[in-house]
Amino acid sequence: MSLASIDSHASQPALGRVRHDWTRAEIRALFALPFPELMFEAQRIHRLHFDPSEVQISTLLSIKTGGCAEDCAYCPQSAHHDTGVEAGKLMAIDAVLAEARAAKAAGASRFCMGAAWREPKARDLDTVCAMVEGVKALGLETCATLGMLDQGQAHRLKAAGLDYYNHNLDTSPEFYGTIITTRTFQDRLDTLDAVRAAEINVCCGGIVGMGEGVEDRAGMIVALANLPMHPESVPINLLVKVEGTPLTGAATLDPFDFVRTIAVARIAMPKSVVRLSAGREDMSEETQALCFLAGANSIFYGPKLLTTPNPGPDRDRALMHKLGLRPMDPAE
Ligand code: SF4
Repeated sequence: MSLASIDSHASQPALGRVRHDWTRAEIRALFALPFPELMFEAQRIHRLHFDPSEVQISTLLSIKTGGCAEDCAYCPQSAHHDTGVEAGKLMAIDAVLAEARAAKAAGASRFCMGAAWREPKARDLDTVCAMVEGVKALGLETCATLGMLDQGQAHRLKAAGLDYYNHNLDTSPEFYGTIITTRTFQDRLDTLDAVRAAEINVCCGGIVGMGEGVEDRAGMIVALANLPMHPESVPINLLVKVEGTPLTGAATLDPFDFVRTIAVARIAMPKSVVRLSAGREDMSEETQALCFLAGANSIFYGPKLLTTPNPGPDRDRALMHKLGLRPMDPAE
């Protein structure tokens, strides 16, 4: 399939418009393009909607770590896996705000708060809403990832000032059941609907390198790109193989397959910010640079991503300097 035929549904001839009718065959064909052609197309589309020198920077803080009732096979925080991650309590509001001030000083424009819950309880949601109000008052964009939400909970978070809610689809609908058994793909779609109904921006992506095939990576991108609205942020994570999780022995994904996933996400969701998320700690600078060329335009700053290591701000600043990249303003 050629590039022209991939976009055969298009009323406009060129790839780059926002579509919600991607077929699996079209996305598969993008994955199969010669690497230079895929990269060129991703970069061309990236430039239609973004300044290619800008990278949005977020910081992620685990406000409640470990002991999660869900059984996500990749996650060291699941109570189902013996990974040595201790179950902690929800952090105090002041401690979270101190971390948010430090993140802002380090250049972050968005502060994400993650809690290892199946879903938030009423009392905990009160505390998280107070955190959201406090972080917002510092002039940062706010983001939370707290598990499943119903519409009432989403509206409360919106009223507190929540800008983004993260809830990933993780993988293709077919592969999903081998990764998580304690909640369904449809549960995830229902939470995304509740978040959208509350007019909170959606951060939703997935994880690659979990033993899935290219068909599943294509299925994941189709599921994301055919949501009623494209997520404003699309995190693409590379599995961090944590000892004690069922995926600790997963085969290592070829870096080019990771870069291809970023490029296809960029082409399928042209106006979304694509985030190069977990897995950067073990990624070469060259691979990260290819990801930026493929259309990634967001990263997490900070030495830890919830419980797994991430490059420190100094390493990131040095890489951005080498590549001539600069932080995106919060308003963008
Ligand atoms: S990914 Fe989230 S929901 Fe799944 S086990 Fe980890 S903390 Fe729980």
